[in-house]
Amino acid sequence: MDNVETLDLKPIFSCLDFIESRLVEQELIGLITFELTSAGSIKEKYGTDFYQKLFKNICEFLLSLKGKIFRQEDLVLINDYRDDQIILLLISKPRYKKSLDIYNLKIAAIRIISEIKTNIIKESIEFEKIKNIIDNISYGYALIRYDKNKNIRSIIFDSFSEAYLRQKFDEISEKIISMVSHELRTPLTSIRGFAETILQEDLSKEEIMKFAHIIYNESNRLNNLVNAILDISRIEAAKVHFKRKKFDIKDIVENVLELVYPRIKSSDLSINREYSDDEEYIVFADEEKVEQILLNLIDNAIKYTPFGGEITIGISKQDSEILVSISDTGIGIPDKEKPHIFEKFFRTSISMSVAQGTGLGLVIVKYLVETLGGRIWFESQLSVGTTFYFTLPSDESR
Ligand code: ADP
Repeated sequence: MDNVETLDLKPIFSCLDFIESRLVEQELIGLITFELTSAGSIKEKYGTDFYQKLFKNICEFLLSLKGKIFRQEDLVLINDYRDDQIILLLISKPRYKKSLDIYNLKIAAIRIISEIKTNIIKESIEFEKIKNIIDNISYGYALIRYDKNKNIRSIIFDSFSEAYLRQKFDEISEKIISMVSHELRTPLTSIRGFAETILQEDLSKEEIMKFAHIIYNESNRLNNLVNAILDISRIEAAKVHFKRKKFDIKDIVENVLELVYPRIKSSDLSINREYSDDEEYIVFADEEKVEQILLNLIDNAIKYTPFGGEITIGISKQDSEILVSISDTGIGIPDKEKPHIFEKFFRTSISMSVAQGTGLGLVIVKYLVETLGGRIWFESQLSVGTTFYFTLPSDESR
């Protein structure tokens, strides 16, 4: 909670019946509200025409968000109870039961807000005026929890503003900086150390080549780390954009296998395909992001599987989704480390001696899969192998 202008929740209460029925009907649990406050002063300062134009603009924009950031049924726009307020309700399904919480609703709100800002500022009238007005939008949410019988158990309201969001961004950045400074320092220290040795000592050509090789590997590691960190910061600042369309995921799997082929060959791994060439496995997703997901998971399977092992990729059709599995006959994940696998910077004790890594890939993969409306999980047995599974919706209906 912060001490800026609190959101007027009366309108929400007045339409709670409607919200409730919708929530119960679709097993939804949360909502986010947006309110354009100080409408009176905007009208006074810039005139009614301007205000109406702006109001229309915002409404149209919010409506256009349907299906763009969120699925159609996740958005309800109520704008007719008073002509100076816009309440946008973002209702989220308890799809990933554990992960749907206040934090996620806030992240969703932040994402909408940044879209509203860039689009409204870009598309509408005068920039300076709009900027003032945007500052008059306050954001809030209500999280409604149900019990098994779908009776409302509790409703939590909170509101937050620009100042709050800015502070949140700062907190996130600080956390990232403290976590990554260690990860950045290690390769940098070794690059500097080996470069100094090459410069200061009289080395044989062979030795120089050896050290240059280490420098090359370490700078690659640094490069991967910086890319992963940038991806994570974009995710945390809710600045990842998705371009969804229908496509056959089998084609992306084949592209990725081609990309990693040299590494498969040099580790003498065999690849099994458990899908049919004649079938289409259509997903409704973002092609580039799906490639990133597959590249990460297949890359891990290669990295953590010893020479001569096997990697199996399965694709199958479920009800309204496609299930993909990536299995390896690699080192496996110890039981007691399993709960931490999707945590930032986490690496299993055994994996560190096997291959280099950042412990960020799976965080990104999980975020991408879930944002695309899918689920991800894994099974693993130490020294036997690991299978990662993920699903993606096969049409627009989810
Ligand atoms: P990394 O860059 O370290 O591979 P990831 O986030 O992709 O980062 O994976 C996190 C950790 O999970 C890895 O460091 C490794 O300990 C473990 N892991 C991921 N995939 C596998 C796998 N196929 N087999 C064994 N361990 C794995």
